[in-house]
Amino acid sequence: MKSELKHQNLKYFNTFKLNSYTDHFFIVRSFKDLKFTTNIFSDYKDTIVIGGGSNIILPEYIASLVIKVDFSGIRMISNFENTVLIEAYAGESWHDFVMYCINKGWYGLENLAFIPGTVGAAPVQNIGAYGVEFSNCCHSVVAWSLSDGKVIEIPVKECFFSYRSSIFKQELNRNLIILSVRVLLSRKWNPNLEYFKRNDFLSKTPEHTDSINDFIDTICSMRKSKLPNIKEFGNVGSFFKNPIVTKEIFLNALNFFPSLVFWKQGEDSYKLSAGWLIDNCGWKGKKYGSVAVYDKNALILLNQGSAKFDDVMNLAALIASDVYCKSGVILEIEPKVYY
Ligand SMILES: Cc1cc2nc3c(=O)[nH]c(=O)nc-3n(C[C@H](O)[C@H](O)[C@H](O)COP(=O)(O)OP(=O)(O)OC[C@H]3O[C@@H](n4cnc5c(N)ncnc54)[C@H](O)[C@@H]3O)c2cc1C
Repeated sequence: MKSELKHQNLKYFNTFKLNSYTDHFFIVRSFKDLKFTTNIFSDYKDTIVIGGGSNIILPEYIASLVIKVDFSGIRMISNFENTVLIEAYAGESWHDFVMYCINKGWYGLENLAFIPGTVGAAPVQNIGAYGVEFSNCCHSVVAWSLSDGKVIEIPVKECFFSYRSSIFKQELNRNLIILSVRVLLSRKWNPNLEYFKRNDFLSKTPEHTDSINDFIDTICSMRKSKLPNIKEFGNVGSFFKNPIVTKEIFLNALNFFPSLVFWKQGEDSYKLSAGWLIDNCGWKGKKYGSVAVYDKNALILLNQGSAKFDDVMNLAALIASDVYCKSGVILEIEPKVYY
């Protein structure tokens, strides 16, 4: 098939369901397609690489080259006594990959079940849930350098993973197409229950430790009860990161909000619940144009039908400035926003 750019409304390629038009849309399905991206890369000032579109906010018109990654496959690279090294290609569904590993008896990714999106995006914001992050199992990331068409393998240490961030979200954001991820998984199921113990959820879910199937069911039903269904309402999950602040900022915020929810990270480091702050500043259920703050979880913004990029960003700015005025805490947007 001929490699060519298409005119496309990306509404059905982003889970916020924003209308977003481009004349430069290209789906990468093969090595030949990858070479094509390198041939045309220098014609553009900017490139946007997308997977499932569940963590991006797109403008109404895009002049950049937009590349959607769509190739799949899972293979075992090494089989050790207690662990396995598995490679999954970027276009695989993340949740399907997690379930595939569980069914094979390869463990470590269970807490990350049911996160939307693709495998290729998992390292970008170092996806995390229920006390586990992608970085915990990552061995390396294999990528295509758009400028020179070279394939590089980036070992976990050089990915600079941190809370909802990595080198792929920062310096390398527009220069690389992630082709695959390599993860080191255990042959023994050793459930990671730290989050549940810390948050006192364990009593509600005693079946956690009994079987892997119960554990996965619990994770999936907890997520379903807290998160809106992307098929019903456009959204990108958490719109803001939980801010990590110094003791001084924490104590100042505590002064305004004595029952503030937080997690102590270190001597001078506190992670605050962004959802709690937004809720307690009175934003749950509030609307701006066709965008609303989800009434069950204030961390989530919903497209109520015909939301526009400006509605989303204006509501986000209003929330962030109100939270700052009332608590002194700066909120940072979690999804990647393209202007
Ligand atoms: C209901 C809901 C719940 C969510 N829950 C969680 C959660 O619990 N934890 C969490 O961490 N996230 C969560 N998210 C956010 C999102 O699912 C993840 O960030 C996911 O990894 C995004 O995958 P994607 O394929 O949709 O990426 P996209 O949204 O398409 O892209 C996200 C970023 O990754 C880059 N990217 C994507 N693919 C590639 C590639 N192959 N090469 C290079 N760069 C690439 C893009 O340029 C962009 O910067 C949630 C989202 C929703 C809608």
